[in-house]
Amino acid sequence: MKRQPLEPALEEIERQHLRRHRATVEAYPDKGSRAEVIVDGRRLIDFSSNDYLGLAAHPALAAAMAECAARCGTGSGASHLISGHGREHAALEEELAAFTGRERALLFSTGYMANLGVVTALASRGESVLLDRLSHASLIDAGLLSGARLRRYPHCDAAAARRLLAEGAPAAAVLATDGVFSMDGDIAPLASLSEAARAHDAWLVVDDAHGIGVLGRNGRGAVELAGLGTDQVPVLVGTLGKAFGSFGAFVAGAEELIDVLIQRARSYIYTTALPQPVAAATRAALSIAQQEAWRRERALALTARFRAGAREVGVPLAESTTPIQPIPLGSARAALRAQQALLEAGFWAVAIRSPTVPAGQERLRITLTAGHRENQVDALVESLGRICAAALAS
Ligand SMILES: *Cc1c(COP(=O)(O)O)cnc(C)c1O
Repeated sequence: MKRQPLEPALEEIERQHLRRHRATVEAYPDKGSRAEVIVDGRRLIDFSSNDYLGLAAHPALAAAMAECAARCGTGSGASHLISGHGREHAALEEELAAFTGRERALLFSTGYMANLGVVTALASRGESVLLDRLSHASLIDAGLLSGARLRRYPHCDAAAARRLLAEGAPAAAVLATDGVFSMDGDIAPLASLSEAARAHDAWLVVDDAHGIGVLGRNGRGAVELAGLGTDQVPVLVGTLGKAFGSFGAFVAGAEELIDVLIQRARSYIYTTALPQPVAAATRAALSIAQQEAWRRERALALTARFRAGAREVGVPLAESTTPIQPIPLGSARAALRAQQALLEAGFWAVAIRSPTVPAGQERLRITLTAGHRENQVDALVESLGRICAAALAS
């Protein structure tokens, strides 16, 4: 067998307008804020980040990280089960368990790894894993890696999920869904999914990467918003790199669930523990998020302001009430053009293309955060109105 040349593959990606490039953020011009960035020497307002509570550049997080690094060093030096598990990890796990109202929480290095760990620990060959058609890539990869049969139901269709569960053969060990869908911003029908999973004895795993910290009366996410607890949603995955402005992820649930993950989750066992200074920064973030409810209220109020303004100037919107606001544009080319036009107007909102979203459903993904100002949101709406009118006329 000969190795395949790579150039034609890249050319084909380019021809389909699907080539990815990275922009390098050169600086954050406003101290303590990430709302504005310098890219290619230009100052832009960032409407692409998942820093929903505006905590990523908060001085208290940086101070906690620096203090911990001076005390414990940077690296953990080993995995959690060898000698890398420290006091900051233990304290953060306790605080996350208390925050989510669950018996225990387990830290993972990333949300991607948390999903791999949970699904592979709970499902295996001879069983099946059910996923929403628009689930995050990490849940799909987790399902494939588990060796179970992967089955997908139409987006947010709990009745279809229930039918697949009832078919059995092979019986579903896991039904997993995003809480808030990362590219659509809509919320999974958690109450009906929970009833279906309970009726057929499957584990319901809710990956609330984008809901935790933002939704619910206490910021506990989509599960709190739906009024559900551990009985209805036994496995809750949350990430720490989005609303909490830090890095890492956790799984929260009953004592035995966490103990089984410690025994079986290979993405937990066979990797170096998250640096303790990162855990220290996350503890600071969790404390601020709980004390300053205005942050999540503000992210949601700016979201409502954005939607009202966009509707007024004829910008197409999706059915999302969360800070993730997709602007459907229908093709990779149209989405890239809109991204470019926005850049020229001083706004950074990234075109989301296939395979991240289905081909033909390309969009701009706008995110609102507590770090934005009203006049920045209004200016974005104004530019989007102009750009969308031109796109629809062409
Ligand atoms: C971001 C995201 C993840 C991955 O989390 P990381 O900590 O960035 O690896 C998992 N699930 C969903 C739904 C996400 O949006």
